[in-house]
Amino acid sequence: MTRSLLTLLAVLTLPGAALPLTLTAAAGAQDASPFEIRHDSDIPDGVRGLGHEFGAEITPPEDAIDYLRALEAAAPDRIRVFDYAESWEGRTLAYAVIARAEILDNLDAVQADLARLADPRGVSAAELDRLVAETPPVVWLSYGVHGDEISSTDAGLRTAYHLVSGVNDPMVETILDNTIVVIDPVQNPDGRARFVHSFTAARGIEPDPSRFSAEHDQPWPGGRFNHYLFDMNRDWFTMSQPETVGRVQAMLDWHPVVVVDAHEMGGDSTYFFAPAAEPFNPQIVRTQRAAQDLIGRNHARWFDRFGYTYFTREIFDLFYPGYGDMWPTMHGAVAMTYEQASPRGLVWRRQDGSTLTYGEAVDHHFIASLSTAQVVAENRERFVRDRLAFRQGAIDERSGPRAILLDRTGNRWGAERLARLLARQGIEVDGIDGGFTACGSRFRNGAYLVRFDQPAGRLARTLLEADTRLPDAFMAEQESRRARGLDHELYDVTAWSLPLMFDVDMAACSALPTNASQRFDPETEMSGGVVGDAAFGYAIPWTDAGQAAMAAALLRQGVAMRTTDAPFTIGERVFPRGTVVIQRHGQADGLDTLVRDAAENTGAIAIGLSSSWTDEGPNLGSGNFNAMVAPRIAMAWGEGTAPTSAGAVRFVLEQRYDLPVTIIRTERLRSADLSGFDVLILPEAGGAGYSGELGENGAHAITRFVQSGGVLVGLGDATRWMASSGVDLLPVQRERAADAIPDDGAEGPVIPGRIIEDEAQLLAAETPRNAMPDSSPGALLRVTANADAWMSAGYDDGAFALVTGSDIYSTVPLDELTTALRFAGPDDLVGGGYLWAENRAQLAYKPFIVSRSSGRGQVIAFTQDPSTRAYQEGLDLALLNAVLLGPAHASPYR
Ligand SMILES: [Zn+2]
Repeated sequence: MTRSLLTLLAVLTLPGAALPLTLTAAAGAQDASPFEIRHDSDIPDGVRGLGHEFGAEITPPEDAIDYLRALEAAAPDRIRVFDYAESWEGRTLAYAVIARAEILDNLDAVQADLARLADPRGVSAAELDRLVAETPPVVWLSYGVHGDEISSTDAGLRTAYHLVSGVNDPMVETILDNTIVVIDPVQNPDGRARFVHSFTAARGIEPDPSRFSAEHDQPWPGGRFNHYLFDMNRDWFTMSQPETVGRVQAMLDWHPVVVVDAHEMGGDSTYFFAPAAEPFNPQIVRTQRAAQDLIGRNHARWFDRFGYTYFTREIFDLFYPGYGDMWPTMHGAVAMTYEQASPRGLVWRRQDGSTLTYGEAVDHHFIASLSTAQVVAENRERFVRDRLAFRQGAIDERSGPRAILLDRTGNRWGAERLARLLARQGIEVDGIDGGFTACGSRFRNGAYLVRFDQPAGRLARTLLEADTRLPDAFMAEQESRRARGLDHELYDVTAWSLPLMFDVDMAACSALPTNASQRFDPETEMSGGVVGDAAFGYAIPWTDAGQAAMAAALLRQGVAMRTTDAPFTIGERVFPRGTVVIQRHGQADGLDTLVRDAAENTGAIAIGLSSSWTDEGPNLGSGNFNAMVAPRIAMAWGEGTAPTSAGAVRFVLEQRYDLPVTIIRTERLRSADLSGFDVLILPEAGGAGYSGELGENGAHAITRFVQSGGVLVGLGDATRWMASSGVDLLPVQRERAADAIPDDGAEGPVIPGRIIEDEAQLLAAETPRNAMPDSSPGALLRVTANADAWMSAGYDDGAFALVTGSDIYSTVPLDELTTALRFAGPDDLVGGGYLWAENRAQLAYKPFIVSRSSGRGQVIAFTQDPSTRAYQEGLDLALLNAVLLGPAHASPYR
C-alpha cells in the first residue's frame, strides 16, 4: 500500500478521525468483520430508516431513495444525494456521494480535478503528478438495473449505511480516506415497483420457498424491464431511456475508476464476480484486466472467510459496449458485473433442498461492494494512474483509422441524431459544412467528423467501426463447438456499428482531415425548416425518418396529404417515391404555420411547391398518388408477445415519432372490435406465442380485419404465426438448414442393420435430422431495395438489418408476394459482426420485408425485428412506411 505525503497530510487534518488506525494497511483476513463493527447511533439503521432490518424485506424503490435522504439528513458531512433522472412512471432516480467532509465541502473543485485527469490534454506533467497524488478516485456502485434482481438494492442501502455510520473501523476509514463512493441503489425503479407489487400481492401468512408459488412467478412482463420494457443493461450507448440518459451524464460528471453493476441470476446458482468471461472487446487494455483480477482475489478472501461460494470467468463477457459494465470500461473504468443467485422473494428452496434467504443474498452483495471499495482505497494511486493512462493512450493512439466522417447528405436527419447521440455520451464530434472531398469520399452537404485521438477515442472506435474483431482463438473454439453439436458461447450480438444501424454513410480516415470544422453542440435544436415558394402547397421528400415524422405530425393535425408510388421531378429537384404532397386548396386555415412548426419541431425539411406541374413523373391527380390517413394503431401486448419487442416498438412509435399505440392483450384480440383501427402490429412472439393466445377465433378476427381493409404488420418471429397453416396470412415458408440431412423415415424399435465404416460416416449418422440453420448471435447484414415496392420507399441505397436466430424464409414468386427489401448477395452481405458461413450462404437474396394485398387490406412482415432495443434507427423509416404508407395502400370503406 502506497500513499503520498500529501494524502497523508490530508488524512491528518481529518476532524475526529481515529488517526493511528487509518494509517495501518487493511488486509482482508485481518479486518474486523463488517457484520460486527460499531455504528454511530445517530444514523438511522434499517429498522429506523426502512422499518425492517437490512435483508428482512424487499424495499420498495421510493423507500430506498427516502432512506438515502434520511442518511443525508443525519450525516450531511458524509453523504450527499443527487437526483439524476425521472422514470417514465414518475419515480425519482438518485445516487449518493459518500466521502469525507472536506471533499463534500469542495465538490466543484474535486470534480474539476477529476475532469482534468479524464482529459489530460494541455495539463503539465507536474500538474498531472499532483492530481494523481491528491485526487480521490470515485468507486461507483450501482444496483438493480433489472428490477426483479432485488437483493442488490438492499445491499446498496446497507453499504451506504455502513460507510456513513461506521465508527472506528479501519476498513471504513481506509475507504473514506482514499476514495469517493457513489451508490446508485435503484437503477430501475419502475421495474422494481412492478416486482414488489406482484410479490406483495401474492404473499400469504409466511414467505413461501416453493419456486412454483406466485410469489416467485411474475406475471408478464416481469420486473426486469422499465416502463417501455427495455433491458436497460443493453441501453448504455443507445441512451434511449431517461434512466440511461441520466446515468450516462452522472458518469461523465464523476469519471469513476471502478464501476460495479450488481445483478441477480438463477436461484440455484451461487455468486459471480470478476474477472469476466471471454471474449473481451479489443479496446480493453491490460491494466483493466489486471485490476479485475486484483479485485476478484480480494472478494475471494472475503467470501472464503464467510464460507460463501462463487465462480468467475465462465459467463458474462466484456464484448458488447451497451452493458452497464462495458460502457464505463470504454471510458477507462474497471467495470464489472456481479451476480447473486436470486431468491426472487424472501426465501427460495434450491434444487438441492437447501434454502436461500433474501438476507443472505443481501449479505453477499454487501460484502462484494465493500471489498471493491477496499481494493481501490488500498491501491488508490494505481487506479487513478491506470485510468489516466487509458485516456492518454486513446489520445496518443496512431494505429488503425484516425477518424471517421459521417455523411450528412443521404440520411441527413439520422446523421444529426447520431452526432447528438455520440456527443451526449462524452465523444467529441465536429461539424464540417458545405461540399468537400476527404478520406476518399465526396461529401455533398457536410459531414460530422469524429477524431479518435481524444480521451473517449476507444469508445468512439468501438461504436463507429463497422466491425469489432472477435479474438481468433475464441471464434475457432466456437466453430469447434458447433461442429460438435454444442451451443456457441456468445452472450450477445457481435455487431453494433452505429453508422450501419443508423444507415448513415461513413468514411474511415487514415489521416486526419484538414477541413475547417467546429465543435458540434448536442444541445442545439435539430435543424429543420421550410424552403421555397409554397403557392400551390408543400412536398415532404421521403428521404429519412425525420421526413416521415413531420408527415405523421401533420396527419395528426388533420392536414390532408397524398403519397406517391413513383418519383417525380420539378426543375432540378427529384422527389423520390414515398414523397408526400400537401395541396393548399381545401385545407383549413393556418397550413403554413402548421407546416413550419412541424418542420422545426421534428427537424425535417418541407419544400414549397409553386405549382402542381411536374417535369417528369406523375402529377398529384395521378393514380400513383394515394390519400393518407392519421393511422389508428393497435398492437398485441401481454402474454404471447416478447416484452422487449412489444415495448421497443411502442417506444419507437410513441416517443420518437409521437404516434400513439393502443395496446391490446393478445387473448383479447379474439373478441375485440378492430374496425376502429387502421394498423395492427404483432411484435415478436413470447411464451405460448400467438397460436396459444389467439387460437382459431383470434386468427379469424385478424383475417377479417385485413380483409376489410386493415394493415397487419408482423415483426420477427410473428411472421411464423402469420405463415402458419390454418392462419395462412402470408405465403412464406421457413427453411431448414441447406445442408440438413433429411429424416429417412425409419421408425420403430427395430430398423435395418447398418455398418459404420469410418468416422465420417459416424459423424453423418450422429448429425441431427431436419436441422434448422444454426442460431446467429447477431450480425448486421446488408439489405437491398426492390424499387417497385412502396414498402421500400426511402431505401434506394439499401440499409443494414440486425439478424439474430435461425429464421430464414424462402424466396416467393412475384405473383404471390412483393419482397420489398431482401438480403444482399453473399459477398456483400455482412456489414459487421460474425455470421456462420453456411448462414451467410443461405441468407443471401432471401426476404427481409415482404408485403401483399389481401382483400381490402395489406399484410406486411419483417422477417427480423427492426425495432430491437430501439437502436436500429436506420430501419425506423421502414416501420413508418408500414404504419403511414400501409393505410394509404389499403382500401377500407371509409
Ligand atoms: Zn441482471
